[in-house]
Amino acid sequence: MENKITWNKNPVIAHRGAWKKKGLPENSIASLKEAIKLGCYGAEFDVHMTMDSILVVNHDPDFLGIPIATSTYTQLLEKKLSNGESIPTLEAYLKVGKTQKGTKLILELKPTKNRAEWDLQMTRKAVAMVQQTGATAWVDYISFSYAIGEEVLALQPNARVAYLNGDATLEKLKASGFDGADYHFSVYKNGDWFTKSKALGLTLNAWTVNTLEDMNWLLDQDIEFITTNEPERLFELLKTRK
Ligand code: MG
Repeated sequence: MENKITWNKNPVIAHRGAWKKKGLPENSIASLKEAIKLGCYGAEFDVHMTMDSILVVNHDPDFLGIPIATSTYTQLLEKKLSNGESIPTLEAYLKVGKTQKGTKLILELKPTKNRAEWDLQMTRKAVAMVQQTGATAWVDYISFSYAIGEEVLALQPNARVAYLNGDATLEKLKASGFDGADYHFSVYKNGDWFTKSKALGLTLNAWTVNTLEDMNWLLDQDIEFITTNEPERLFELLKTRK
């Protein structure tokens, strides 16, 4: 079955799903579905772990004021997103993502501040959940934590993992087995990132790119992926550049 998957051929990654234009909550199942409907290459989302080891999708370490790492999943159900959804579990998110074969699921593992062992536990649980749900082919991993990225690769050596924090050279990422860099776009303004990544066989992704000017500049550099809150704007731009 997996050999029939053909991912959408465009550089568009919807940041926290596609939420802005339609006023949907970020990181909701609705924003994932909208990214799929738009035909994005990827829908990005953020993962944290509750006190009782449930993996949930949310940007901040707290969900509408409830701290995720020190609360149970049941406690998080006390609040709802603006569209009526509860906080999505990673399992629910992956299961919806797997119902289609165009949009990849760009899974960001969020490190805690000082709890390295917690972060590794979360990583092991996330990779296991991706495997259990049969979503391995759908998922690319990203993280601001180098250790989390390395742990994903130790658990699943063929995983596609990109590093977010902007402070590692491409040579270092290559040596560690990362697929590429996913840095703030300003990082790429200095240096030879674009020629070097191609020479090393790595991919470049940039966050969070919302203006036409920045989108155009990155497309002129032949970047592989652009992560944006404005996927509709990027699609419109791509049409005019053909
Ligand atoms: Mg993120």
